[in-house]
Amino acid sequence: MDSVAVGQLRERMRLLQERFFERARGDIETLSGFARLIDQQQLPKSELEKCYQLLHRMAGSAGTFGLPALGQAARAIEKQAKALLESAADNDASADVLVSASADLANDLRQLATLLEKAPEVTTTAVAKGGVPVAEDSYGGTHGMQVNVMALGHNQGNLPDLLKSLSAYGFVCETVSIDRPNEVAERLRERTSVSILVCEESELGEVMGFRERHLPKAEHRRLPVVCIGRESSFESLYRVAQQGATSYFCEPLDLPELAERIESLALERGSRPQGRVLIVDDDVELGEHYCLVLKQAGIIARLVSDPSDLMSELSAFEPDLVLMDVQLRDYSGVTLARLIRYEPRWLGLPIVYLSSEDNPENQLDALSKGADEFLVKPVTDDYLVRSVRIRCYRARQLSDLMNRDSLTGLLKHSLIKQEVDRELARCRRSGHSSCVVMLDLDHFKRVNDTWGHGQGDIVIRTLANLLRNRLRESDVIGRYGGEEFLLILPDCQPEVAAKLIEAIGKSFADLLFLAGDDSFQVTLSAGVALINDFPVSDQAIEAADQALYQRKRSGRNGVTLYDPFLRGMKA
Ligand code: GH3
Ligand code: MG
Ligand code: MG
Repeated sequence: MDSVAVGQLRERMRLLQERFFERARGDIETLSGFARLIDQQQLPKSELEKCYQLLHRMAGSAGTFGLPALGQAARAIEKQAKALLESAADNDASADVLVSASADLANDLRQLATLLEKAPEVTTTAVAKGGVPVAEDSYGGTHGMQVNVMALGHNQGNLPDLLKSLSAYGFVCETVSIDRPNEVAERLRERTSVSILVCEESELGEVMGFRERHLPKAEHRRLPVVCIGRESSFESLYRVAQQGATSYFCEPLDLPELAERIESLALERGSRPQGRVLIVDDDVELGEHYCLVLKQAGIIARLVSDPSDLMSELSAFEPDLVLMDVQLRDYSGVTLARLIRYEPRWLGLPIVYLSSEDNPENQLDALSKGADEFLVKPVTDDYLVRSVRIRCYRARQLSDLMNRDSLTGLLKHSLIKQEVDRELARCRRSGHSSCVVMLDLDHFKRVNDTWGHGQGDIVIRTLANLLRNRLRESDVIGRYGGEEFLLILPDCQPEVAAKLIEAIGKSFADLLFLAGDDSFQVTLSAGVALINDFPVSDQAIEAADQALYQRKRSGRNGVTLYDPFLRGMKA
């Protein structure tokens, strides 16, 4: 996030706080009106209900806007008002029956004004330098993420050679001297992509020290260190673990395995948007404040303040998580959560109540009706971000488990086919050209037969990682079958697609797979078709498959374009 965006965000936060104050002043005046009615013993039940609603809202939001004492006081009076309401309901159900409230309640209500006069504590949201840039409409794919591998040390030893090999896997590699730690730290801080440090075991202590001293705490924990050593004894592994390295590899290095580890470390720490959150709250200022806080942390957030828009917003926004206020003016969040569950599509959607309800019995009762957890208001900004982030992460892991292939982490067969359907519809709407690519490993049976199934699996995973590293974020990658992959390249002409896949195929063919003392290489073949040429997506896939078949017949290791006019192929 650049400084202009940060400034704009701060300004919006300030405006929100001003709006909150204006509203709170009005609310407190209204509450003093209720106090006067109590003095005159003229408070009807309907007004007590309004009084309770106002207090409830204030209890939930004042803390967030820098007035925790006001929030706590409102919470205490809210409880009195609620007890009074309940006993009134027991005695007489009509709305205009007068309620007899104590003079203490009236005084407490008047006291609130003094708490508002206190200067607010400045809201605590820290605006991180170099926050996470967020693309609003990114695919859920794991690719499109640039992974930087930085070798750090004094005498770089074998590291430069190692980096050269790693760059063949699509990582952006550089060697940096630890002698200028401030420079290195600055470079790391400015990056928006994921970085992984690599170092020699002899320099691990220094590298860990650098990470500790020169990077902010939150950042240094997120920066993995992969250590390369020469000993694999338990003692040396223990020593490395004690110093805090994230991962250890012993020479001679198994490159595909190292690349795989770097890839998964990068995926875990990826700076892609960390989730989509739909906030349902009738308190617009508070809801907008939550949105801003989450956006600042790289989470895409949207506010629904009118519950009747809830279902359409859910479909349009497709959140990973819903934060649901429990009491909205005319609606109950608990009932809304149940309503969401009526749609099979949202059965697995995590719903977290945002509530002022601190009674565990009542919480449990609400949970049984459809939501998963409670966050008790007022929620601090930091707590909100952390708990939303972890819940989104879990939700994504779960949906990944259902939608992604376990060996490669790519989309499963049925899902990638759906994606081709969606892309065809997009092409029709916007007129752009998109390609579908069918890709298959050459003579893979032989690889399995010669080197074993386990080695075969490594080859498949390595190709998946290479594709992730080399394709754009908007491209979609799926594992179509055993050693077959289907790619969708939106907004891409067939010739460009063929060139791109050819280059990836070449990098792949250059990779050396180690098996004991031996090594082997594998090539791939691909067929490309233009989605726009076909009335239905299945035919586009079929055409790419035909082109692939043609490629296999004419010698493998390359790319063939499907030609709709010749209904034949160009190699
Ligand atoms: P071609 O160049 O014509 O594609 O020859 P090929 O040997 O690659 O083709 P074929 O379709 O005959 O064989 C594919 C092999 O891929 C057979 C199957 O055992 C293997 N395979 C499929 N899925 C996996 C997997 O998940 N792991 C491993 N190791 N092998 C797999
Ligand atoms: Mg094959
Ligand atoms: Mg095959």
